[in-house]
Amino acid sequence: MSEATSSTPTLTTALTAVATTASVAIVLRAIKRRFSPTITSTLQCKCGKIRGHVRAKYEDSFRIHCYCQDCRDYANFIASLGGNKDETIGKEFGDNRVVQFCKNAITIEQGQEHLKLAIKKKKKSKGKIYIHQFYAGCCHVPLMNTVDFLGFVGVFCDFLDQTAVEQWDGPCRMFQSEGFGQPNPPFPNPTWAPFIWKMIRYMPWRKSGPFDYDLTPVYWGEDSNGEKKEEKKKDK
Ligand SMILES: [Zn+2]
Ligand SMILES: [Zn+2]
Repeated sequence: MSEATSSTPTLTTALTAVATTASVAIVLRAIKRRFSPTITSTLQCKCGKIRGHVRAKYEDSFRIHCYCQDCRDYANFIASLGGNKDETIGKEFGDNRVVQFCKNAITIEQGQEHLKLAIKKKKKSKGKIYIHQFYAGCCHVPLMNTVDFLGFVGVFCDFLDQTAVEQWDGPCRMFQSEGFGQPNPPFPNPTWAPFIWKMIRYMPWRKSGPFDYDLTPVYWGEDSNGEKKEEKKKDK
């Protein structure tokens, strides 16, 4: 037998093992999801003009406490649109909290016309993927962050039922080095495999939900020339 032919059965065995492991993992995950509890929450902006709900299984949720500066800048910018620059939703350590769901988990029953779009200006070198940030135009609070061609959406916890929020999966922390400290004990770092799997699984619903990506956005942050942030320009 030549070397080439003797390596073929080994490769076939390895590929079969990988395929079998992947299939078993997918089936086990599907069974786990099937028996996972469904949790429902109201979704309501601060002034109550926008009302809806979120209905999602525990397995289809992912709570994140994000400590990044970008989230704080965005929350400050949205608050500044209403003249309440200091009235933001950041927590003790500068974190903003969201729960990620599949887009089809979100229903808006009232006040859809108040749902507005914000987009962060980007330097050209940073590529063309934009986060679509939907906020309440009526009371100037951030509500949901998503990307037009992906199936998931992050909903700000402040506008959900806290009892429901605590029942969803998590929380985990992100960008903790940009925060003002950490709780003791700190929240765990995310496990990426389930997160990536959910992102792939939600893809068929990328066009679902109450999101109008054709709205004229308000731009915030630095532009391509690195000019001052719009939030500062608007500071009165
Ligand atoms: Zn409102
Ligand atoms: Zn963040």
